[in-house]
Amino acid sequence: MYTPSYISLHKSGKLEVLANNLWQHMEKCDLCPRNCGANRLFGEKGTCGADASLRIASFGPHFGEERELVGKGGSGTIFLSYCSLQCVFCINSDISHGGVGQNKTVQDFADMMLQLQDKGCSNINIVTPTHYLPHMLQALDIAAEKGLRLPLVYNTAGWEKLNIVKKLNQVVDIYLTDFKYYSKEKAMRYSPGAASYPEITQKAIIEFHEQVGNAVAEADGIIRKGLMIRHLIMPNNLDETENILQWIGQNLPKDTYVNVMTQYRPVYKAFEYPEISRRITIAEYKRAEEAAKRAGLTNYKIQG
Ligand code: SF4
Repeated sequence: MYTPSYISLHKSGKLEVLANNLWQHMEKCDLCPRNCGANRLFGEKGTCGADASLRIASFGPHFGEERELVGKGGSGTIFLSYCSLQCVFCINSDISHGGVGQNKTVQDFADMMLQLQDKGCSNINIVTPTHYLPHMLQALDIAAEKGLRLPLVYNTAGWEKLNIVKKLNQVVDIYLTDFKYYSKEKAMRYSPGAASYPEITQKAIIEFHEQVGNAVAEADGIIRKGLMIRHLIMPNNLDETENILQWIGQNLPKDTYVNVMTQYRPVYKAFEYPEISRRITIAEYKRAEEAAKRAGLTNYKIQG
């Protein structure tokens, strides 16, 4: 019988303590690397757009995630409104920048998790959780008490502070993380204010791996624990792709799960940046594939 890692924390009462501890971070918010200091507990909105009220854009079984997360019932995805990274090419800019969604209570959040379990989903997949970490942990604690037993997927852009990630040890079962930029120049250009992305994300990914190890599918083809990395190839940015894949090959096991994503399309503000205002070319696709091979990666996927 599968038991997710957060159950022992819940039973010991530590999950509730941790959630309350993180809640206090919102008084002078430092939950993400922007450290903007907003007093969210007094209704102030941070740079990410969020105050202390929880906003959720949508939830439901999602069949577009990695095959090993989908299974028969889909990945139980909960899309949170707002985002701390603020990429200019975001495909969900109405949600991440515009805050589209509805205000919900932590109890509602927990009920969504339980409904997704009842629908037969393979996991609970929280999309863009960083700024709502305290709410996520409180909801998880309530849902665990009511019988939630699915793996928790932390679906992040990767720009996560090490001291915060360390608190998530034994809470998260699967880290599903982007690795977007290798150079601070590109990070700054496409995610304004996030020049620290490469340095912070590299440290976070090492910590993710230390906590959950490699993602390995079980006999039924489903991944229930481990690190899964996504990298989106961007036009005219293949040096970034090569350096990122090389870094993974040098700093993590060669069989680390890596999804090299090819579906980039220019949306939102991407047309203000001529070099990323098109899809990738076949030559760029091939260059990425060669880079993955050269890095020695043995568990990468690249869509055709
Ligand atoms: S999570 Fe939002 S409010 Fe908190 S530091 Fe980051 S940008 Fe500011």
